[in-house]
Amino acid sequence: KLASIRGDVTFDRLVFEYEKGRPALRGISLDVKAGQTIALVGHTGSGKSTIMNLLCRFYDPNEGAILIDGTDIRNVSIESLRSQVGIVLQDTFIFSGSIRENIRFGRLDATNDEIVKAATAVDAHDFIMSLPDGYDTEVEERGNSLSMGQRQLLSFARALLADPRVLILDEATASIDTETELKIQEALKKLLAGRTSFIVAHRLSTIRNADRIVVLDHGVIVEQGTHEEL
Ligand code: ATP
Ligand code: MG
Repeated sequence: KLASIRGDVTFDRLVFEYEKGRPALRGISLDVKAGQTIALVGHTGSGKSTIMNLLCRFYDPNEGAILIDGTDIRNVSIESLRSQVGIVLQDTFIFSGSIRENIRFGRLDATNDEIVKAATAVDAHDFIMSLPDGYDTEVEERGNSLSMGQRQLLSFARALLADPRVLILDEATASIDTETELKIQEALKKLLAGRTSFIVAHRLSTIRNADRIVVLDHGVIVEQGTHEEL
């Protein structure tokens, strides 16, 4: 069990193949200190999502290991891992239900105050209050009645409320207007503060603000460093 973790994450010589003989990861080693933000970049198919799939234990590696605070994540219950490792996917998952239920997803014990606080922190409160029934407004499956930016902010509020020590974020590629972009940048800063984060990054602003940029190619790390170094 991971009781109260710091959030140091080590990838130790990871090798993984979805299909025999076609390795998606070919020896990934990476040491990340608690609280750091890592931007993962690389061509399509280079292995970015695969690394994140392994960190969530959607799959286990063929060789090597992932350690959190020195503990192999295979020796941790899935439940405990899920509570410490949060994921915000690119197609920000919105289900049919109220805005409140959507934010509370994964933290069913959250109070209204906590929900409003999380929404306010990521600057989603005002748009939510402008909806017909505020936090009780029903949204459709996939959140079609909301804009891309609004969906993104909702997913940030949800992640902030869940408060995982390690956060994985597959950044949306969709282009949004400059004002929303700025909002999202600010919200992202708050969301990342104090946690270890891995971002499959598409925005230049995200890449610039990362503590380290890791460049993948065909399942190996070909370069890493800060934005200035690369
Ligand atoms: P993108 O930028 O397009 O999201 P990525 O860097 O996230 O790309 P991955 O999804 O990690 O790339 O894919 C790495 C390799 O593994 C690719 O060759 C891909 O075809 C393969 N792959 C990914 N998911 C699966 C799967 N579920 N089954 C089989 N092969 C897969
Ligand atoms: Mg991917």
